[in-house]
Order: sequence, then structure tokens, then C-alpha cells
Amino acid sequence: MFDTLQDRLAATFKSLRSKGRLTDADIDATAREIRIALLEADVNLSVVKEFVSRIKERASGAELSRALNPSQQIIKIVNDELVSILGGETRLLRYAKQPPTIIMLAGLQGAGKTTLAGKLGAWLKEQGHSPLLVAADLQRPQAVEQLRVMAERAKAGIYAPQPGNGVGDPIQVAQNSIDYAKHHLFDVVIIDTAGRLGVDTEMMRQAQMIKALTKPDETLFVVDAMIGQDAVNTALAFEQGVGIDGVVLTKLDGDARGGAALSIARVIGKPIMFASNGEKLTDFDIFHPDRMASRILGMGDMLTLIEQAEKAFDAEESAKAAEKLMGGGGQFGLDDFLAQMQQIRKMGPLSKVFGMLPGASNMKAISEIDEKQVDRVEAIIRSMTPAERADVGILNGSRRARIARGAGVEVRDVNELVNRFVEARKMMQSMGQMMPGMPGMGGGR
Ligand code: GDP
Repeated sequence: MFDTLQDRLAATFKSLRSKGRLTDADIDATAREIRIALLEADVNLSVVKEFVSRIKERASGAELSRALNPSQQIIKIVNDELVSILGGETRLLRYAKQPPTIIMLAGLQGAGKTTLAGKLGAWLKEQGHSPLLVAADLQRPQAVEQLRVMAERAKAGIYAPQPGNGVGDPIQVAQNSIDYAKHHLFDVVIIDTAGRLGVDTEMMRQAQMIKALTKPDETLFVVDAMIGQDAVNTALAFEQGVGIDGVVLTKLDGDARGGAALSIARVIGKPIMFASNGEKLTDFDIFHPDRMASRILGMGDMLTLIEQAEKAFDAEESAKAAEKLMGGGGQFGLDDFLAQMQQIRKMGPLSKVFGMLPGASNMKAISEIDEKQVDRVEAIIRSMTPAERADVGILNGSRRARIARGAGVEVRDVNELVNRFVEARKMMQSMGQMMPGMPGMGGGR
């Protein structure tokens, strides 16, 4: 699921990476690419339109942050908007104040309701609940048996008409199950209702009746994410016919384009609460819009890094430092270096900060970043007076000895730091001169 969308978005972001600043033309081109990517993924047209116009509006608005480069800015905006169309906050299951909590599952035949009843049962068991699965799908002869097997695997209770007692009345079964649950101390009742191959009035009527008589705390619409746009239409029909509280997406492990998943919450205005991604009982989880969005963007922890950079970043200070470093607006001193280093360290331990960059997790150098070494550099700079930090040229032998003592290091450590700093500064300044007129670089003046 989402593979093509992921690839397309990644290509779009990559083309932005080399840009120093976003022009209106860049924003238009990016918006166009994102629009194509979403349409190809089978996302509902009205959702695409709204999405793209929000991206354009935000990308050209004043909110652009100086902490992030253009590609990071766009990734962040696309991520925020994805989270929003996927429903925003994670919506957790609501339990009844007075047990049992009643959950009704509705949806088309083959959507995965019976399988889901088992998965939900197993998940609830894990949370310390005592679930009862109720077979109110008496349409399909095997449905009752299938639910019985599921209950056994999930170690949940089962309430079903006995075989041989005729088909029974699903509405009656559902209604009676509540008393049974109370009697046998089950605190969550999961009612598996009948589905048809398509939406029909009889199915809707039955679901309405069951809902009216059992008053579920949650009516969950279960839908196969692989059926594409039909998922959205079916969801609308169920929302109008029965009224639903949330959506469960199944078969997210399929290789479909995933657009249904991206459209459904926004189109029907109901949250996606759970996602099912396989045939095993454990292939199931709470649906987190934010995690799904970052999975679609394929950005790993990049987004966390972007957020932390924004929080830790002091734009004005950095701009001044960059200008100095490139040879304008006064000499770049160790005081500036210390300030920069602290901004980065505010984001967390260095190995973690760098480790969050995509592809960085397997880079040896990063796992070997020695935090103590960095602490030592900080200690040396802190042992200097402001005048020494601003101009390392005044560091004579006795000053260096005093600094080494203050930082608890050898004089040669101080020498090494100063030499490396002077070297690095020289290199940056000659780069600044090679690139006159670059924004933030003083070389052109
Ligand atoms: P119901 O008619 O709505 O009760 O649907 P079932 O629970 O009987 O599921 C229909 C088919 O889909 C069964 O073969 C299930 O094993 C399969 N299925 C259900 N959920 C998933 C899922 O998340 N991934 C995959 N790959 N198959 C699933």
C-alpha cells in the first residue's frame, strides 16, 4: 500500500532539496506534482483539491520557517496536511461507564468483519478486558463457525445460536447477548453483523434494528481498503443508513494504491480507529494518523528532527553567525561556535540527532560520536574569557595553560581545538568569497 505515492512524493521533495529559496513557480510545480501523486494513488478528487490548495496556501504564506530548508518546509506542510486528512488526533475506543461496552461491526460481506471481531477480541484481552463475540451474522452459514474459531483463538467468549436450532433471528441474538454478557461478566460485547455483497435495504434495516435495540457505544464500519473509491461510497451509505462512529480499515497489507484510506476520514467526517494488515490475529493496531502520514512520506524520524530543529532554533542568532562565518559582519569566534553547538545539542544527544537523518542509522561515524569529546570541547570554550572566545589570536601560552586547568584537560587539547577551529574558519571564509551574493553569506559585501 502507498508505494507509488511514497516514490512520487520522495521524488518531488528531492527536486526541492537543492533550492535555496522557494519561488512561486517552485511552489506551483510542487503542488502539481503532489496533485498527480494523490490522484494516481486514487485519492478522492475533492480531497485532493482541498489538500493541494492548503499546501499552496501554506507554502506561499508567511509561516515559512527559517529553521528549515525548502524541502524540509514542504515535507512538514505535506505531513501536517496528511495527518489532518487522516483524521488528526488518534481516536481511541470509548468504553461505557457501566459495562458492558457494546461494539457493533457493520460492513459489506468479505470486508473482514468476522476476522476483525477476533482481532479486536484478542487485542481487548491483552488490555485486560473480557470480550464476548456475538454471532449476529446468520446470513452466511459458515459465519457462525468462523466466529467460533476466532473466539477460540482470541480466548474470548462466544455467543451464538446453537447449530441445528434453525437459523435464528440475528436481531434477537444481538439483543439477548447483552444480558448474557452481564450475567457472565463479559465487559465488552462485539457484535458481528451480516453483510451483503452490495449495499441493500434489508441489510441496512437489520443493522438499524440491531443498533436501536443494543445501543452500541461504538458502531464501527469495517471496510476493505483494497476496494478503492467504492470504500468511500459504501462508507457514506452506512453513515447515512445506520450512522457510524468510526472506521476500521482492513487489508492494508494489500498492494492497492491506498487512496481510499486517504479519503475516507475526510469525506465522511469520521475517524479511522483501527487498521488491519494481515490474516494473523496480531496483524491489527490502533490507527495513528501521524504515524500513517510519516509512513506515507517515508521520512522515518526526519519529521521529529524537523520539529526539534524548529523548536531549538533561534533564527536571528544563526543568521548572524552564518554571516560572520562566511567572512562578513565581524569575525566568527569561539563564542559563536559555542552558541551554534548549543542549538544543535538542544535537540538531544548528538548521535540521536544525526541518527534521525534518513539513511543515517547505519552510518558508523554516527554511532561513534563521542558525547564526552563534545563535552570537553564545550568545557574548554567555557573556560575562556569573552575576549578570548571572540578572538583566539590573543591566546598566548599562559592563557592556554589557565584554560586547560579550568577545563581539566591538557594544554595540547586546547591547542588542538584552537588550531582546528582556525583551520575550519579559514575554509568557510574562502568558500564565502567564492559564493558572493548568496543569502546569509557576507562574501558579496
Ligand atoms: P466478513 O465477511 O466481513 O466477516 O469478512 P471475513 O472476516 O470473513 O474476511 C474475508 C476474507 O478477508 C477472509 O479470507 C480473511 O482472512 C481476509 N482478511 C480479513 N482481514 C484481512 C487483512 O487485514 N489482510 C488480509 N490480507 N486479509 C484479510
